[in-house]
Amino acid sequence: MSNTANIFQAQLKDFEANGAPTYEQRVTNLKKILVAIDAWEDRIIAAISSDFGSGELGGRSSHETIIAETFVSKTEIKHTLKHLKKWMRPKKVKTAIHFKPGRGEIRYQALGVVGVISPWNYPFSLAIVPIVAALAAGNRVMLKPSEHTPNTSDVLAKMLGELFDATTVATVIGGVEVATEFSELPFHHIFFTGSTMVGKIVAQAAAKNLTPVTLELGGKSPVIIDPSADLNLSAKRITAGKTMNSGQTCVAPDYILMAQKDIQPFAEQIIKTAEDMYPTIADNPDYTSIVSDRQYQRQMDLLDDARKKGATVMQAGNDSDNAMAASRKIPLSIILGVTPNMRVMQEEIFGPLLPILSVESPQEAINHIGKDDRPLALYWFGSDTTNREKVLNGTLSGGVSINDTIMHVAQENLPFGGVGGSGMGSYHGEYGFKTFSHARSVFHQSKFSGTKMFYPPYTEKTDKLLKFLKKHA
Ligand code: NAD
Repeated sequence: MSNTANIFQAQLKDFEANGAPTYEQRVTNLKKILVAIDAWEDRIIAAISSDFGSGELGGRSSHETIIAETFVSKTEIKHTLKHLKKWMRPKKVKTAIHFKPGRGEIRYQALGVVGVISPWNYPFSLAIVPIVAALAAGNRVMLKPSEHTPNTSDVLAKMLGELFDATTVATVIGGVEVATEFSELPFHHIFFTGSTMVGKIVAQAAAKNLTPVTLELGGKSPVIIDPSADLNLSAKRITAGKTMNSGQTCVAPDYILMAQKDIQPFAEQIIKTAEDMYPTIADNPDYTSIVSDRQYQRQMDLLDDARKKGATVMQAGNDSDNAMAASRKIPLSIILGVTPNMRVMQEEIFGPLLPILSVESPQEAINHIGKDDRPLALYWFGSDTTNREKVLNGTLSGGVSINDTIMHVAQENLPFGGVGGSGMGSYHGEYGFKTFSHARSVFHQSKFSGTKMFYPPYTEKTDKLLKFLKKHA
C-alpha cells in the first residue's frame, strides 16, 4: 500500500476505534492551530514569498499574506471557537400534530475521514480554513496542498505535523500523480479548491466511491457599473480587489460591464488609482509576483492575443519591461475594445488584466453574464435599487458584493461557495461546520403515540381521521 493509502487506513481505524472528539478536544485542536499561526507567521510569510518570488525583487506582499492568509485563518478559528458549542447542540424541530407528543431533532455528527485538496493562490488559508471546519465538525483530515507552492506545503506539513498525530491531521505532498491517488481514496467527504477542469476530474473520482464533494472552483466574475454608480469610489474598490495578489484571486473582478460613454474616463481613473496604490511595480514589495513562469507567460499570451485581435491596452506605471519580467510582475492592464473571440473573454483571467466592455442597460448586462458559466462572484456598483434588484434577480452567482469587491467572502456569517461551473457546496463559519457534518434526523417516539391510529385493519374510524387530517394537518 502507498504512503497515502496507509495514512488513510490509519485515520479510518482511529476514527472507528475512538469516534469523534468531544467538544473540549475539538476546542483544544483549534486553539493549537491558533497559537501555531502566530508562532509560524514569519515562516509562513517567507515560504509564500519564496513560492511566488522571482529574482531579488519578486515575491508575495507580506501584508497580503497577513491579511489574506494568517489573519483570515485566525478569524475563522476565533469565530468557530465562539460558536462551536451552539453549532454542536442538537437542534429541535417542529413536529406535526399527528406525530405529537413525539419530537424530532437534528444531530450534527462527524463524517469520519475527510480529504482537503488546496490550490496555490492562497496556499495557507485555503488549506487551513477547510481543515478548521473539518476538525470543528469532529473529523480526521488529510490535506493535499498544491505542488506549485512547495515551500508553503512544506511549512504546512511541518506545522500540522508538530501539532497533530497523523491519525488526526496528515499532509500528503505531491503533484498530479499523488493528487489523483488522493482523490480516489474512499473519503467520507472531499473538499476541493481549484480549477473547474480539475474539479470535474475530482468529482468523477469521488463518484466511484459515492464520496460527497464540495467544489470551490473559479470562473469569470463580472463587475457591473450602473449609471448611478460613484465612479471614483468604484474605481478604488475595483482596483483594490483586482490588484490584490496581482489578480490571482478566485473572486477577483474578471471584467467590467458599463456604459460606453463612461469607459474611457473610468479606465483612466482605475489606472490613476493603481498608480497611487503602487507608485512603482517591479521593486515594490506591496505588489505580488505572478506565481510561476508558466502563469506569467499565460498572462503575456492573453495580452498578446487581445492586442493582435484589435484590443488596446492601458497599463499602470512605467517600470521597464525587463525589470518587471525579472520580478515576474505585470502591471494592472485595462483592455479596451475586446471581442468574444479573444482569450481574455474565454478563460478565467486569474491575473492583473482587466477588460472593460460596454453595455447600455441592466438587461444587456444580464444577457452577457447569462452566456457564461455561473460565476463565483458578481459585483454591482450603483445606488439605483430598481436596477440593482433587476440584476440580482436576473443572474445567479456564488456570492455578490454590492458597491465593493471581494468583501462578501470575508463575512463569517455568509456561506462561501460557487454554483454551477463555479462549484458546489459552501463553507466559512457554521456553513463549513455543516459541510463536514452529517445532519442526522432523530425522531423520539412517545409511549402514547397517536400513530397507532394509522395501523391496519383500516376502518371507518381511519377514514374519518384521514378526512380530518386532510383538512387540518
Ligand atoms: P488546480 O485545479 O490546478 O489545482 C488545485 C489542486 O488540485 C492542487 O492541489 C493540485 O495538485 C490538485 N490536482 C491537480 N490535478 C489533479 C487531479 N487530476 N486530481 C486531483 N487533484 C488534482 O488549481 P490551481 O491552479 O491550484 O488554482 C487556481 C484555480 O483555483 C482557479 O481557477 C481559481 O479560481 C480556483 N480557486 C477557487 C477558489 C474558491 O474558493 N472557489 C479559491 C482559490 C482558487
